[in-house]
Amino acid sequence: MSRRDLRERGDDASVAFDKPAKKGLGQHFLHERGVIDKMLLAIDPKPGERFVEIGPGQGALTFPLLDRHGALTAIEFDRDLLEPLRAAATAHGALTLIHADVMDVDFGALAAGEAFRLVGNLPYNLSSPILFHALAYAASIRDMHFMLQKEVVDRMAAPPGSKVYGRLSVMLQAYCDVTALFKVPPGAFRPPPKVDSAVVRLVPKAPTRIGIDDPARFEAVVRAAFGQRRKTLRNALSGVCDAEIIAAAGIDPQDRAERLAVADFVRLANVSAQSSAQSSAHASATDATPIR
Ligand code: SAM
Repeated sequence: MSRRDLRERGDDASVAFDKPAKKGLGQHFLHERGVIDKMLLAIDPKPGERFVEIGPGQGALTFPLLDRHGALTAIEFDRDLLEPLRAAATAHGALTLIHADVMDVDFGALAAGEAFRLVGNLPYNLSSPILFHALAYAASIRDMHFMLQKEVVDRMAAPPGSKVYGRLSVMLQAYCDVTALFKVPPGAFRPPPKVDSAVVRLVPKAPTRIGIDDPARFEAVVRAAFGQRRKTLRNALSGVCDAEIIAAAGIDPQDRAERLAVADFVRLANVSAQSSAQSSAHASATDATPIR
C-alpha cells in the first residue's frame, strides 16, 4: 500500500517534514498510527503530569501527546528539525523545545524538584548511554517509556538464568521495575530499521527498595561479574572481592554471574563495601598507634 493510500486510510501518521532521515542520528520516524496509539495507551498521560520527550523527530509521538496533554518539553539534537517542529506544534499545544544532545541535559535541573515522565523513540545507537544517563537522575523521573531495539529490551527485562541476562539487566532492574510491553516491526518506521523494535516501561524504585549502600561498588561488582561471564564468580571477581566475601554474602563462589538474582548482587556489593570500610578503619587505627 502506498504512503498516500495509508494517509487516506488514516493509518499513516507521518508529517510531511520533507527532510531526509539522518542515519548518523538514528532517525527512523514512526509512522504507523496503530503503534503510536498503543504507545499512548501504555503511557496513559494524566492531567497535571509533566512530560519530557527525547528526540521528537518529526513529531510522531510529540503531537498526539500534545493533543492529549496540552504541554510537553522535548529535547532534539537535529537543528534542521527545530523550526518545522515548532511550526507544526502550534496546532497541537505548547511545545518547549530544547536544542541539545540529551547526554548533556541535566535532568535534575530540568525537573526542578518536580519529577517528570520521560518518553522517547530513542536513537538506537545511543540506547545504553541514554538509559544510564537517565538512571543517574532516577529521583527526578517518575517513569520512562522508550522504543528501543527489541534485542536491547530483551536484555533489559531478562530474568536470571536467561542467555541475555547481563550487566544491563542487573543495573536497570536494581534501580527500576522494568516491563517489556510490546514488539514493533520495522515497517512501522520510515526508513525501516534492520531490526525489530519494542516498547519498554521503567519505573524508578523508591530508595528504600533499592538497598544499595555504595553505588560505585555495586557497579564495579556487576561489571566484573559479567566481564567474564563464563568464569566462576571467584575468578571473575578476583581484584574486586575475594571468595570469603562472596561466601559471606551467602553466595557460592563457584557459581556464575548469570545465575545470580539482582538481590544477590546487591547483598554481595553491600558485604564487600562493609568489609572494605572495616579494613580501612582497621588500617587507620593501626596507623594511629604511636611509635615508641
Ligand atoms: N520520535 C520520533 C519518531 O518516533 O518518529 C523520532 C525518533 S528517531 C528514532 C530518534 C530521534 O532522536 C531523532 O529525531 C534524532 O534526531 C534524535 N536524536 C538523535 N541523537 C540525539 C541526541 N544525542 N540528543 C537528542 N536527540 C537525538
